[in-house]
Formats: sequence, C-alpha cells, structure tokens
Amino acid sequence: MLGELAHIGRDPATNGYVRDAWSAADLELREWFAGEAGRRGLDLREDRNGNLWAWWGDPSVTPGVVTGSHLDSVRQGGAYDGPLGVVSAFQALDLVRERGFQPGRPLGIACFTDEEGARFGVPCMGSRLLTGVLDPDRARGLADDDGRTLAEVLAAAGRKPYGLGKDEETLGHVGVFVELHVEQGRGLVDRGRPVGVASAIWPHGRWRFDFRGQANHAGTTRLEDRDDPMLAYAAKVLAAREAAGRYGVVATFGKVRVSPNNANAIPGQVSAWLDARGAWERAVRALVAELSAGEQVSEESWTPVVDFDETLRDRVAAAAGDVPVLATGAGHDAGILASAGVPSAMLFVRNPTGISHSPAEHAEEADCAAGVEALAHVLEDLCR
Ligand SMILES: [Zn+2]
Repeated sequence: MLGELAHIGRDPATNGYVRDAWSAADLELREWFAGEAGRRGLDLREDRNGNLWAWWGDPSVTPGVVTGSHLDSVRQGGAYDGPLGVVSAFQALDLVRERGFQPGRPLGIACFTDEEGARFGVPCMGSRLLTGVLDPDRARGLADDDGRTLAEVLAAAGRKPYGLGKDEETLGHVGVFVELHVEQGRGLVDRGRPVGVASAIWPHGRWRFDFRGQANHAGTTRLEDRDDPMLAYAAKVLAAREAAGRYGVVATFGKVRVSPNNANAIPGQVSAWLDARGAWERAVRALVAELSAGEQVSEESWTPVVDFDETLRDRVAAAAGDVPVLATGAGHDAGILASAGVPSAMLFVRNPTGISHSPAEHAEEADCAAGVEALAHVLEDLCR
C-alpha cells in the first residue's frame, strides 16, 4: 500500500515528499483514502474541518474505536510519517476481519487534515479545529507562501470554509483513538525492539521572529551605513542553540523568509520560525522568553505537555505484546485529541536511523508488519 502512494507528491530531484494540505498531491491522497474505504465497504465521511473518517459500524449509535494518522507531509519529508499510520490502520482492519473478529463497537479509520502545518504554519490543523482549540476565524485567515488564505484554498477545493470549527458530533463518535506512527528518534533502535507505546508528548510550539532593517545595495552601501536584519537573525540562531543547551531543551530555526531575497541586496526584512520543545514546559517557556526579549515575536502555536492516559497506555502496551514505553518530542493529532479529553494512545514503529522529516526516514518491512500485528491486537482488545 505504501508503494501505491510512493509517486504522489515526490520531488524527483531529492526523493523527498511535498504533500501540502489541499495541494494536488493531498487531494490525490484523499481520493486514495476514499477508494480504500470504499473497497472495504466502510462508510466514508468528511467532517466540517476536512478530516476523513472511514467507519465499520455506525458511531452515532455507540462511540467507536478509531485508528489512523495523516497523509500530508512536511516539505521534503519521508514516506512514512503519517502514511504508515493510515496504511497500518487499513491493514490491521483487514487482519482482524480475516481472523473473523466481530467488533462489539464501531471501528473507524481517520485521516487528519494538515497535520504538519507545512502550508499554513499551524500543525495539527484538522484536529485543532475539530476539538475547538484553534479559532476558525484565525484558521480561515492563515495564508500560504503565495498569499492564498485557507478560506480561499478550501473554497477552490470545493469545501465550505465557513463550516470550520469545533465539531462535537464528530468528536462524540470517537470513544478512543490509537495512532500508529513511525518513530522519529532512536528510542526503539536503542532498545532493540520493533514496536513501542508513547507515554507523553513534550510541550512544544512555534514562534515567528520578524527582524526589520533597511534594504539597500550590497555593493555601494558602506558597512557603517547598513541596517542589516540578517545579522540579527544569524545572532539569534546561535543564541537559540546556546540557550537550548543551557535550558536542557531543543530549539530550531528551520524556516526563514528573506525579503527581497536578492543575492546582491542587503535584506529589508528577515522572518524566521523558532520551534522549541522539551520535557519541561517551564524550561521551554523560559528559553522563548529569553530569545524574545526586545524582539518582534508572535506565537503561532503552543501545545502543552500531553501525558497519555496511563490505564489505556498500559492496556495498549499489553495488547501489543508487552512493548516498551517512550516519550516523544514530536507532536501528533493523538496529542490534540488526548488534550480534548478523548482517551488516546500511540504505537511507534522502529526507525533504523531515527531520521525523520527527511527523505532518509525509513522503517523495515518486517517492523511495519510487526506494527500492524500489534495494532490489530490492540483494536481487537479495545473493540471487544
Ligand atoms: Zn506525523
């Protein structure tokens, strides 16, 4: 199934994936999801926020057990982050059916919209809108790099931008959510295990820094006459690295926009995005406060620590075959649902290099199969 998706949104120059929300690639992936749901006789629904749900059984009668992930990617991402969870969900459903299992409650497969936030800057957009933690007016006004707002992009895709927002009815269908995901670190490699369960998601956020200066000629402007915002930006990158070490967190400037972005011009403005995360919210907040002092900074997203439900976590770990429990620095829709009060859990599949958000991201086929097997056991246990 991953092979069927391999060509969609792949950059032939790098083999990295570019699957922005609501792009042609994303629409093709959504069609693929609908096809897989249809082939299995599942009831396909798209909610008001663009999330896709494929149901075996009717969740308006009894809330169901839901598994799944997302199909969008970071720019130049790998093949597994997101799609592995969606593909494994279909495979696990096939497996429990092959075994003749009759679920005692509905079983659903979810595909959340715009998990990565690659296009509009806010990660987990679909689950944040669904749960009401993201204001729909703010979401509609978010613009991509071409200046198109989410409202415009949704309308062009035939969706209703004014339908966005908290959706109690859809949320009420989700009795429990289990997301399988490729691990984005080396926890399982170090433990020599193919599958693990999440204990917590670190608190994390994104901040936009705007450095303003005076655009001018790179050849004729004397050094002492320059007001060059690139220098302030460069100093901030180094300061972030140094402060992260001091606070025991991670901090990254991974996106920068330079205006006018000419090789022969001193920039007039540099905008850069800081991503900061850590086990302790106070440490992350202190780092951001220190870096923000005297700067023009806006917080684009913030997600507090998510401690997954311990009872569910232990049940999932046992059903998956007594697998190890690990914390992660990566955000996920499961974390957003957990914060909204939906009992949620995550399974991780080993990533031999730990590399993620890169074309080098990988999972061995045998480990993917172990993940499907574990997920099938978990679904059987939860659907009993
Ligand atoms: Zn992901």
